[in-house]
Amino acid sequence: MGIKLNCCSEKPVISLYSGEKLCKNHFVEYFENKVFKTIRQFDLLDKEENIGVALSGGKDSLTVLSILNRLSKENPKIKINAVAIDEGIAGYRDKTLITAKEFCGKNNIKLHIFSYKEEFGLTLDEILKILDVKPCTICGIFRRYLLNKKSRELKLTKLATGHNLDDECQSILMNQMRNDIKSSARLGPKVGLMKNELFVQRIKPLYLCTEKEVTTYAFINGLLDTFSECPNAIHSFRAQVRDTLNGLENKFSGTKYSIVNSFLQTLPFLKEKFKNGEIKICKNCNEPSANEVCNACIYVEKLKNKVNSRI
Ligand code: SF4
Ligand SMILES: [Zn+2]
Ligand SMILES: [Zn+2]
Repeated sequence: MGIKLNCCSEKPVISLYSGEKLCKNHFVEYFENKVFKTIRQFDLLDKEENIGVALSGGKDSLTVLSILNRLSKENPKIKINAVAIDEGIAGYRDKTLITAKEFCGKNNIKLHIFSYKEEFGLTLDEILKILDVKPCTICGIFRRYLLNKKSRELKLTKLATGHNLDDECQSILMNQMRNDIKSSARLGPKVGLMKNELFVQRIKPLYLCTEKEVTTYAFINGLLDTFSECPNAIHSFRAQVRDTLNGLENKFSGTKYSIVNSFLQTLPFLKEKFKNGEIKICKNCNEPSANEVCNACIYVEKLKNKVNSRI
């Protein structure tokens, strides 16, 4: 008793893990300050940028786009574009893309859409009927490939994604569970291991914002997506790790912050350890690759072989 946890006399909209309860106005101020502080703390933006925001139409990417767009209005040297990938997931992506188009139209933001169908010849739904692969594995490879290639072609200086603290926490644990520390070395608010002109630097302005905070911010600002998650996500490894982490957070408040904060302390050592890996050029498509042929081309080839063997 006696400790005052409410910010003011207004009705609280969220209770933070510290126990503090914030009203709508104080929460919006808290959230936006946190994002701007993250940008400064991790040096995510330079004075002049032509930023792309990877836009899915979901709450996280709409939140990051909305905040960066405001920053751009206050600072004309920061230019904003939205980049969306249409994987071709019926009943899901078609709907979120409508939200993305509406938001960009209303806010006068240039939106570039690239699709698997156009780039790889098939939609994700079609691919999954042909190949026996985990949906998120192939989808992730194709998405990262397209986002990087198209961002570079569009001459974007950075690509901002909507990854939040929960996403990062899940990735850290997933990599630990797979004994894949090299992938963890690529994580952090600034993605990747080394600067290379073939890679457009990816940044995560919502890095320190929890899923709950992003959802609350999106709700208050009318950015909350009403569509359910991707039908392929439900049984994914990530979904299971997410549920486990949420269970731990309920029992031990602050677990997610602790995992990410301790990870941030080891990250410089990880980046240092893995910084000298070689970047090759895929002999098929000339995109950067860890091997002679990039993962996207390997899957495209597998798809071609499967389709041909059916004819
Ligand atoms: S959940 Fe998996 S299949 Fe669905 S969009 Fe994300 S990566 Fe692709
Ligand atoms: Zn208040
Ligand atoms: Zn390739």
